[in-house]
Amino acid sequence: MTASPAFAPTVELHPHPRTRDELGVILANPGFGNYFTDHMFLAKWTPDEGWAYPRIVPYGPLTLDPATAVLHYAQEVFEGLKAYAHADGSIWLFRPEANAERMQRSAHRLALPELPTDWFIGSIKALIEVDAAWVPNGDEKSLYLRPFMFASERFLGVRPSQHVTYGLISSPAGAYFPEGLKPVSIWLSTEYARAGAGGTGAAKCGGNYASSLLPQQEAAAQGCAQVAFLDSTEHKWVEELGGMNLFYVQSDGSIVTPELSGSILEGITRDSLITLARDLGHEVVERRVSIDEWRDGCADGTITEVFACGTAAVVTPIRSLKWEGGEAVPGDGEAGKVTSELRAALVDIQYGRAPDRHGWLQQVLPA
Ligand SMILES: *Cc1c(COP(=O)(O)O)cnc(C)c1O
Repeated sequence: MTASPAFAPTVELHPHPRTRDELGVILANPGFGNYFTDHMFLAKWTPDEGWAYPRIVPYGPLTLDPATAVLHYAQEVFEGLKAYAHADGSIWLFRPEANAERMQRSAHRLALPELPTDWFIGSIKALIEVDAAWVPNGDEKSLYLRPFMFASERFLGVRPSQHVTYGLISSPAGAYFPEGLKPVSIWLSTEYARAGAGGTGAAKCGGNYASSLLPQQEAAAQGCAQVAFLDSTEHKWVEELGGMNLFYVQSDGSIVTPELSGSILEGITRDSLITLARDLGHEVVERRVSIDEWRDGCADGTITEVFACGTAAVVTPIRSLKWEGGEAVPGDGEAGKVTSELRAALVDIQYGRAPDRHGWLQQVLPA
């Protein structure tokens, strides 16, 4: 592969950015994924040039030929991370190199070119520099960043695309639980799997999400917020939710999280919480957890808390796991003490309220 040129994006500013008043209304109640900042970042890759044409441009639609490969064969990967405003107004990223490296692994699995880490982090810094006013402050709000990469060649043959587009868009996000941690119910999917052995479960690709939508709909019809997926071979081991990893707190204070099996996505929140839980004196074990262990552990009190985690919601307590004709409720079904303690430990670092002992924060803009 040809070496990629140095990262030096061009900047085309939006002729009509949102006014201060419009922005004020948006940031007061952003929700999640509703509004997009005034600019976006784009770059393209070809085998001859490598990564090229890094640019900040006004946010707007992409024009795609109907034969664009991604529309047919789903050769696409993405990432999700947040920028946090600290109390002094400075803006920070949390472990962005971990997202860059995961996107490289995802790209490799989908036969897409790897975006160098300095381009990944550089694109985020370049976008935040022009859209800094969009990073909300206070109330655990953040600017959600969505890097994505897709096969943009106009070609219907089945082979890796020879033209690839990398993009970055960003969207202000409100606190996920503005009124405090609210436990949710989860539906156990027995008919569908999210990922199989040798498949793309460990890659963050759109296709995994596409296949989770029907079971997700089934969960919603059962009054559940999310789906839990079992392994696709034995239909016995609980892997994860459609977009979040799982943790179990046990009555002896130890914590279990499913081991990375190749079909589980390596969450950066998961990895960070393992470290923080150990810092707080909990033993953390990565191993398989069967559906029987979850059910029996809730019934006999061995499992006292269950929670899910991911960048968007950070930590979501699980009130109950439901299936056809049954239900398992850990503890009293309220947000548990360890769940709340771990969540606080993580967000306190992200928002600069606790010391960053692991060197996880990277400053994007000074105060
Ligand atoms: C993104 C994702 C997660 C969470 O990863 P984080 O890095 O913690 O945001 C978990 N599971 C799946 C399937 C995901 O796509």
